[in-house]
Amino acid sequence: MPSSVSARAPLPAALRPAARSGLRIRQATFHRQRASCILPPPLVCGTAANDVEAPLSSSSNGAPKLRAQANLATAAVHGGERSGRPNVADSLTTPIVQTSTYHFRNTAELIDYNEGRLESFEYGRYGNPTSKACEAKIKALEGAEDCLVSASGMNAVTSMLLSLVPSGGHIVTTSDCYWRTRQFMLNFLPKMHVGVSVIAPNDLVALQEALDKHSVTLFFSESPTNPYLRCVDIPAIARLCHAKGAHVCIDSTFATPINQQALTLGADLVLHSATKYLAGHNDVLAGALCGKKELVDKVRDFHHIMGGVVDPHAAYLLLRGMKTLQLRVERHNASALDIAHRLEAHPKIDRVWYPGLESHPDHAIAARQMSGFGGVVSFEVRGGLQECISFIDNVKLPYIAPSLGGVESLIEMPAVQSYWAFGPERRAEIGIKENLIRFSIGIEDVEDVWADLVQALEFVP
Ligand SMILES: *Cc1c(COP(=O)(O)O)cnc(C)c1O
Repeated sequence: MPSSVSARAPLPAALRPAARSGLRIRQATFHRQRASCILPPPLVCGTAANDVEAPLSSSSNGAPKLRAQANLATAAVHGGERSGRPNVADSLTTPIVQTSTYHFRNTAELIDYNEGRLESFEYGRYGNPTSKACEAKIKALEGAEDCLVSASGMNAVTSMLLSLVPSGGHIVTTSDCYWRTRQFMLNFLPKMHVGVSVIAPNDLVALQEALDKHSVTLFFSESPTNPYLRCVDIPAIARLCHAKGAHVCIDSTFATPINQQALTLGADLVLHSATKYLAGHNDVLAGALCGKKELVDKVRDFHHIMGGVVDPHAAYLLLRGMKTLQLRVERHNASALDIAHRLEAHPKIDRVWYPGLESHPDHAIAARQMSGFGGVVSFEVRGGLQECISFIDNVKLPYIAPSLGGVESLIEMPAVQSYWAFGPERRAEIGIKENLIRFSIGIEDVEDVWADLVQALEFVP
């Protein structure tokens, strides 16, 4: 049997590798008949980055056209894995290349590598074939020019900010936010003389004021945000920022590329805590940053110095998790919307925060720019901290745990889980309600999930 896919039936256009640019690529196929008497040639990954083209286009009225779910489902399974990645013993899956370094046959080869005539790897901090396949898959999913995978979402956030925002620069961010990101911006960036303006999500007047007043390098916001699922109007923000030369980076962790194509909507960069939906199984930490090549390149150079690399085994878990991303997200979307509606009608619930509900302040924006609303539903239990504890301590199916985006349902009270040390006054100041629940719906049967929530709500006095 021929070992390369190209020897069989032609691949669909979306899967065909882009033409290689005359680069030599070390061939990786083992010579099986001679394997016992020769040293296997070095494992090599070629142009994995090119192997699923992003089928993006504009509709006739110039508005960005989101990609069909079918394209995304195919990209989730095959992106990064059909050409250019290591071929070890004709393994169907991408191997875990568990190495810290790579060798060269001779000095001439090393010089060829240095001068870009030979594509290979040099040292684990600068790249690995397994993590490169992850990057290629995420690129395909986001329709990005480039992608950098790293050790955690926070590593992606901090590396991005430190490498793209100069000393004396200024960033604009929104008020609802993953707490560690906010902490980095408020406590660490000022040490580098970086100014930070915090605006309410979608306060475009405040954004324009900040853009007029400061030399803004970057706008950075989650969309949807944590924990109130606020959605920022990405095309409108991109227009204002680009007019002033500022870049836009969207943390799309809660959305996933299945529900939101932030780059098509106008962002320059999109960031993920790949720990959440991308990996999807609550078993690994990773981060991803993708978008314009010139920007990702800058972050990659810095990343090579800082060294927050993803381990090859973690990269494999991420790669494997992403294959089912479209299926999982479809289920998360459907279950969350269903549960959000039912919670909204429940007498022991004061308020539900879910962008798929008409009652959510950003529903119209979400409906315009998202194709699904994700698997996180936040809600306020009638009463205060104690009443909320009575509820959460009686749920049986979801685990009480931080994090989100995995197959298991997870539930938490932000006031206790992430903001306990703040105390009640400071929590009130930053808008974290005592009776707030953040619920990350897994892929369990939705009726089982609902029955469990209902029985636990009976414990609320
Ligand atoms: C979890 C999370 C992060 C941090 O990612 P880690 O992988 O935990 O480092 C950043 N942003 C958002 C929106 C998150 O949910």
